[in-house]
Amino acid sequence: MKRDAFLQRIVERREPWDIAVIGGGATGVGIAVDAASRGYSVVLLEQSDFGKGTSSRSTKLVHGGVRYLQQGNISLVMEALKERGMLLKNAPHLVHDLQFIVPNYAWWEAPFYGIGLKVYDLLAGKYGFGPSEILSRDEVLAHIPTLSQDGLRGGVKYHDGQFDDARLLIDLAGTAADHGACLVNYARAAALEKDRDGFVCGLTFRDEESGTSHALGARCVINATGPFCDELRRVDEPEVTPMIAPSQGVHLVLPREFLPGDTAIMVPHTRDGRVMFAIPWHGHALIGTTDTPIPAAVLEPSPQAQEIDFILETASDYLARRPTRADILSVFTGIRPLVKTGEASNTATLSRDHTIHISSSGLLTIAGGKWTTYRKMAEDAVDHAIVLGHLDERPCVTRELRIRDPHCLGAPAPCPEPRDEHVAWHARHEMARTVEDVLARRTRVLFLDVQAALALAPAVARILARELGRAAAWQQTQLASFAETAAHFRIAR
Ligand SMILES: Cc1cc2nc3c(=O)[nH]c(=O)nc-3n(C[C@H](O)[C@H](O)[C@H](O)COP(=O)(O)OP(=O)(O)OC[C@H]3O[C@@H](n4cnc5c(N)ncnc54)[C@H](O)[C@@H]3O)c2cc1C
Repeated sequence: MKRDAFLQRIVERREPWDIAVIGGGATGVGIAVDAASRGYSVVLLEQSDFGKGTSSRSTKLVHGGVRYLQQGNISLVMEALKERGMLLKNAPHLVHDLQFIVPNYAWWEAPFYGIGLKVYDLLAGKYGFGPSEILSRDEVLAHIPTLSQDGLRGGVKYHDGQFDDARLLIDLAGTAADHGACLVNYARAAALEKDRDGFVCGLTFRDEESGTSHALGARCVINATGPFCDELRRVDEPEVTPMIAPSQGVHLVLPREFLPGDTAIMVPHTRDGRVMFAIPWHGHALIGTTDTPIPAAVLEPSPQAQEIDFILETASDYLARRPTRADILSVFTGIRPLVKTGEASNTATLSRDHTIHISSSGLLTIAGGKWTTYRKMAEDAVDHAIVLGHLDERPCVTRELRIRDPHCLGAPAPCPEPRDEHVAWHARHEMARTVEDVLARRTRVLFLDVQAALALAPAVARILARELGRAAAWQQTQLASFAETAAHFRIAR
């Protein structure tokens, strides 16, 4: 993955690409993997870094979605459970089994959730991660000693998948590149080109590093910009009705003492009727999430004070030691690309399925869905693109396509704090261009501990400047910009 070489390929190419993808999140990069592995020529443009949007800010679960089971959306759960099984097989270096406990404080919870989770096991079929089980109070406390014991009766244990979202995204980008795709970060699609019949036949993008604009031709252009997709749809058709109802979700990261074992907590019904997780992740405890409608998607969203209070209050209902603002190491916010379905007023009831929309000028927009189903979303999008772009029909091969493991290619073994050789690897082989790329998405330090990330930033800037051939002034600009981003991950005490 070399940014300069990819840009060069775009500039030198005279014939149209089979597929141009706009957006470098799970949806867009998944499409690039699918299309390139079928043998199509593919270019992907991301306005910021790969995963800068929602795809680095998820709960990091590869799951069927117990909540959707409660809502009776059986087909969505079954599809996601199947995808969960495939992802474990195709990316074993990043996906693993995680056990969850639903703690029971009322008499009816054990039979109710016990039966529900047995149905979840059944729906997973041969893709199951392990059977669910009803546990006694002592068994629950042996798994999660920090759980509030007041009124605790027992719990139900079940299994789901956990992963590192931004790392999977970078490895998917590498996989797409291995199959010939051309992917450029810091490249913003600004305008759509149309032929004389009014059909989209290419686009113009701006290289955000140099400020230069380039045009490219494409038989099919896919808008995979997630929560931002209405902006691009408006570039295509100014009067278009928005399809996204953006809603943000906040996660708090606490020290591991709050959840010392390897078992996660799942609260199926918070006071306002949502699901809440407390999950061990990279040596920390991750707690979330909220679901707050917002007027419009922004690239670096901020948590609202009441969202933080709500998570702390809910966590206090279940943890023996009440977490406070002083315990929070980092907080991150992501925006769900929820697709509007008629008159839904509550975002928790909006569609979690994905939607494909083709405009009268042939712009294909794909939105919604979730990380777990990115592969299926990509397959559907490329199937539509084949028809739209009059491409030769070729079958999807991603069900059994191994996702690149950088350690097999010589990447240095991961450690909590990136050293010189890690930063150099991220710059040379994973297109890390900024201090934030390294500390937020190639490694996850910013998501885990803001102070630690700020302390590491000067060293990362120095190594990156050496790798990318930047001057000393660039390091200062980088540090200022990183401090600005980091402010969104920090809360007032
Ligand atoms: C709080 C939260 C928790 C979640 N937890 C889970 C979970 O545990 N498991 C799960 O399966 N799913 C989860 N999801 C859902 C999942 O994260 C999303 O469905 C998925 O990441 C969306 O990916 P995307 O590629 O569609 O959007 P994004 O990741 O937002 O990518 C869109 C990209 O398009 C780029 N872009 C926008 N405009 C342009 C332009 N003009 N030119 C070039 N690029 C552009 C943006 O910069 C962005 O990077 C969660 C979502 C949220 C919000």
